[in-house]
Amino acid sequence: MATNPLRNIPSVNELLENPHLQALIEKVSRHAVVTRVRTILDDLRQEVQNAAADIKLPSVAELAENIAHRILQTERPSLRPVINATGVLLHTGLGRAPLAEEAIAEMAAVARDYASVELDLAGGRRSQRVEAVQDLLQELTGAEAALVVNNNAGATMLALAALAAGREVIVSRGQLIEIGGSYRLPDVMSASGAILREVGTTNKTRIADYEQAVCDQTGALLLVHPSNFVVAGFAESVSLAELVRLGRPHNLPVIHDIGSGALIDFAQFGFSDEPLAAASIKQGADLVLFSGDKLLGGPQCGILIGKRSHVETIARHPLTRALRVDKLTLAALAATLRLYRDPEQAKRSIPLLHFLSTPIENLKGRAERLAPQMAACQAIAKAEAVADTTYLGGGSVPTQQLATWCVALSPREMSVDKLAARLRAGKPAIVGRVRDERLYLDLRTIFPRQDLELVSAVQALADAEAL
Ligand SMILES: *Cc1c(COP(=O)(O)O)cnc(C)c1O
Repeated sequence: MATNPLRNIPSVNELLENPHLQALIEKVSRHAVVTRVRTILDDLRQEVQNAAADIKLPSVAELAENIAHRILQTERPSLRPVINATGVLLHTGLGRAPLAEEAIAEMAAVARDYASVELDLAGGRRSQRVEAVQDLLQELTGAEAALVVNNNAGATMLALAALAAGREVIVSRGQLIEIGGSYRLPDVMSASGAILREVGTTNKTRIADYEQAVCDQTGALLLVHPSNFVVAGFAESVSLAELVRLGRPHNLPVIHDIGSGALIDFAQFGFSDEPLAAASIKQGADLVLFSGDKLLGGPQCGILIGKRSHVETIARHPLTRALRVDKLTLAALAATLRLYRDPEQAKRSIPLLHFLSTPIENLKGRAERLAPQMAACQAIAKAEAVADTTYLGGGSVPTQQLATWCVALSPREMSVDKLAARLRAGKPAIVGRVRDERLYLDLRTIFPRQDLELVSAVQALADAEAL
């Protein structure tokens, strides 16, 4: 008869004597460690019972190391600074846009004090802070009115709920998008209480399709910028101007979800087809929706701009309160928007725009300076400056590339995945991209002030190995 596999599970005391956990008892507390050891052993027993005889048990050392690792993970602050060496400028997994110093300073200033953030647009009693942001948005986009909420998903849900609940909203089948995670337009639509009325086909939708769908039940016409994919080949879609011409005589609001929210023309950075908020207003959209933390380069928020009557209707809807932003967001957004009054200043100060405007020779120079410094590190067999391409990210212009320079690292002993994992686990965490057995650190998204930290982190790999 096989031995009872449960007997092979170490006791709590056996584990506690292991140096991995001894060190943690000093560092965290005996109570915390004992509690975690117990729950993890309980889990393991459960697992063993479920999986029956053929499960391979970890050794005491492996188990202790594993437990130590898990405890350390919960001890660390969960939001840690990261050096984004992926080259992807708007990395949703890394918090999208880093803020301008001006925005950080204004956030810090209002964080310290009480601040009025009351929102009562309908009653005309707007706080100064809300008013400042609205005035800036009007000035920069030419819109009559503006409102800021938690994110663009919230802005879309709110606009649909306030303007079209219980009625049909006409959308092209080519624009029923999913934006990573849980944002799917049809689901947002149904949660808002509006009824989705799909028209056209995946690749071709004509104005006649919208015309035929308009009826007594219609509440709005919705145009969505398909930010994160392109339909190429036999394709046709309806322009904003055409939809505005259709909506006007029927008194139907035309809502344009432009997604990324560019306030300046991204053609200057080599990207075409990114809609400009001001251009949509000019073409007659009744409401334009976009994110604050994509191409605008500000804090996470959703921005609604457009006709005063619609914005006021939306501001009175109960969801507005549920989706409102705090004083920190308002402060960061106001400071970011103020930078746009002078586009040259915006390009210098807003990290996203600064990264995009960095000349390629500049990145090449830094890569060539950093490569020999990293090549001299013990854990590295070879470090080479290489020209490469990267993407904007964040669901913007998915097919358009951006030239860049990287330092490509080949590790000496460990695998390249291990090298990537070690740098990711460091302080600061460094996230690069692995390709062809090398780890690429892309200078396009690394602040020059971080260059030294990068070299130190690569140097420190050898020290950690010796432990
Ligand atoms: C990104 C995006 C959204 C969602 O915006 P969040 O600010 O992430 O909520 C909605 N619509 C479009 C077209 C987008 O590109």
